[in-house]
Amino acid sequence: MEVRNPGFFETPSFWVTEYGEVLEALRARPKGSCETAGTSAGGREIGCIAYGEFEEVKRTATFSSAIGAGYPPAFFGETRRRKPVLAIVSSIHGSEVEGCATLMNFIHVIETGRDLRGRPWSNLQRLASQMRIVMVPLAQPDGRVRCGITNLVGGDIDDVYYYGQGVTRAGEILRWPECKRRHPVAAEEMAFLGGYYNDDGVNIQHEDFFSPTLAPETRSLLDLVRREVPDCVLSLHSCGAGPFFIAPDNLIAQSYQYLQLQLATIVAARHRMAGLRPNDSPRTGPVGGFHFQTAVHYASGALPLLFEFPHGLRGKPYTLDEILDTGLTMLEEVIGFGTAWGYLPPEMR
Ligand SMILES: [Zn+2]
Repeated sequence: MEVRNPGFFETPSFWVTEYGEVLEALRARPKGSCETAGTSAGGREIGCIAYGEFEEVKRTATFSSAIGAGYPPAFFGETRRRKPVLAIVSSIHGSEVEGCATLMNFIHVIETGRDLRGRPWSNLQRLASQMRIVMVPLAQPDGRVRCGITNLVGGDIDDVYYYGQGVTRAGEILRWPECKRRHPVAAEEMAFLGGYYNDDGVNIQHEDFFSPTLAPETRSLLDLVRREVPDCVLSLHSCGAGPFFIAPDNLIAQSYQYLQLQLATIVAARHRMAGLRPNDSPRTGPVGGFHFQTAVHYASGALPLLFEFPHGLRGKPYTLDEILDTGLTMLEEVIGFGTAWGYLPPEMR
């Protein structure tokens, strides 16, 4: 693997994204319940931490059957839980670590009221205490370890593709979205398999979700949402054009799509007010696209959200401080929305 810029491998102490330091930090949190979500294709532990009491949902039917019955409580439970449940999954693309850095700071906010820079976030801490929050900061550790970078600040799109999609044996950088024409990517055809994929070349975002041979990361994350039945699942990614939510997802009910758009608008307004330069062009997913967040929705009934952080490339620069502020303000809005209104459409409650 090439060091295209030494700065991609250096970071201040508040920017925690290395596999080993993330696991260690999760285990050291006294107030959270640290668990293992599963094991990656390369045999790496997938760390998970939860805050707030687990409340079991007593259901009598699958999501599909409950919807068919016109009676969502058959799936969501007759009695409402005391607190909404939010699950946050970051870095299923292992080179997109900005969400991981944000979650490690958010965990510190929950524990102490301050982020790892020492800045107070008392409102965010207060809001978070009103929910159960389950976090998987590095959901695909194989790609994270392989790509090695801690950030892409000051880079260009070739850097994104080099560390993300990788380089073929012919010396060509795989580019997005052409990289998606192969799934899984054959590791033996690559000079460097980027962080987008697990050790078997699988992109978790685009699995064959109905196959019995799911990647262990995908299996673990779907099992997690089945267990938790979250009201909302937030999947954290990064690209050169962030920040924005990809919304709406066209293969879920319209009432969920409205909520996706509402949250995207609210967070963009917050980012605009804070000078964090949201991407204002419409960012919908491809028509007919059934992705990780779609699978998560049908496995749990949750409102699925996909947020794209900025990488801070030269074409749209952000400092690491600004990227972290983008993440923490986004969380404050998403969690504030959930505590005030809930995440499920009215007909699901
Ligand atoms: Zn991604």
